[in-house]
Amino acid sequence: MINDAYCNDISVKTRSSLDIKCRNGNFLSAYAPYGYLKSPDNKNKLIIDESVKETVSDIFNWKLAGMSALRIAERLNSLGIASPMEHKREIGIDYKSAQKTHFTALWSAKAVTRILRNKVYIGVLEQHKTTTPNYKIKVRTEKPKDEWIVTENSHEPIIDEKLFYIIQNLMNEDTRVSPKNESLHILSGILKCGKCGCNMTRKKVVSSGREFYYYVCSDNKNRKNCDNSVTISVKKFEKAILEMLNISFLQFTEVQRVMKTISSLPFHNTQINRLNKEIDKNIEQIEINKKYSLGLYEDLKSHLINEKDYKSLKQMYSDRIDGLNLKIEKLKREIDVISSDRYSEYAKYAEKGRFEKLTREVIVTFIDRIFVFGKERIEADFKFQSDYEIMRNYINNVAKNSVFLSEKEAE
Ligand SMILES: [Zn+2]
Repeated sequence: MINDAYCNDISVKTRSSLDIKCRNGNFLSAYAPYGYLKSPDNKNKLIIDESVKETVSDIFNWKLAGMSALRIAERLNSLGIASPMEHKREIGIDYKSAQKTHFTALWSAKAVTRILRNKVYIGVLEQHKTTTPNYKIKVRTEKPKDEWIVTENSHEPIIDEKLFYIIQNLMNEDTRVSPKNESLHILSGILKCGKCGCNMTRKKVVSSGREFYYYVCSDNKNRKNCDNSVTISVKKFEKAILEMLNISFLQFTEVQRVMKTISSLPFHNTQINRLNKEIDKNIEQIEINKKYSLGLYEDLKSHLINEKDYKSLKQMYSDRIDGLNLKIEKLKREIDVISSDRYSEYAKYAEKGRFEKLTREVIVTFIDRIFVFGKERIEADFKFQSDYEIMRNYINNVAKNSVFLSEKEAE
């Protein structure tokens, strides 16, 4: 009994000191994740392991190109690249676990997936993700997400944040595809039935010795709940999508060109300043609402308000703050769009402003969703659409304002 109480106390204590270290953004695990090393100057800081940095980028880029985690693992093994575990051994880190069972630990799909999912590669430290319920139970369980200790910009990233999130979406889609019924095709997870929202599946039909491929609604095919019986020839469909993409991209490019001209005008800086000021105003409002919200508890204690009012007022302030945060996000995005040259980011995919071929990489970078309602009605959401709209609104505004200004000048 006494012993137990004592141990319990210790285990709680080490844990709270861990918490404090975590909150400072220190790296606390025994081993650095693949791609990083513990800094020799400060073992709580991560630095890039230059010897495998390329491998980490390769893994993300291969995934983007449509390879599965298993195929990536196989490629790494066939290239003779040491697995994370082997790599640890090579660079002389004493790493005991699971070594006895294998002579050489190879790359596995699981190891690849773990890397693809880890925010450490975009400079974010997520710690305190698992816990051992107490000192007696050694099994680790995952903690609820709001208890994780997250530190942004904790160390130098290896992977571009945009790429990372594209990959996350891609993997979420892949896991939703049931391997039995649906083979992964280049539009997998992106092509949806317009009537029921299910994935469209690729189906093979053999007719007089020749193979034809079609897209069909997976629900219509399997359970017949959906009445969207459209079947679309893969070849024709992909050609149509490529056309749609090129037309939309052309519009986008034109707006971007106008935007570039405007951004060199002095007026442009005034506009950006105006947006920044608006952000500051919203931040001020958030602080005011936070103060009010905090004051509510005092009001409750001194019986100025009752419990019911307390709750509803608390909710009201919290909603207001959410709304203000949303506004700030929107303004930040607007500044980002009007002050950066997106086109040059996209240029590597579309030489001469056109996409020549619909690859998985092009699809996941530029297309959010395609909905098929019927042969005649297909709707595609392109990722650059919202940038396009922000720029177009901005240009319209500038046009209006400059007319106004020149009229004023004329007076
Ligand atoms: Zn359907």
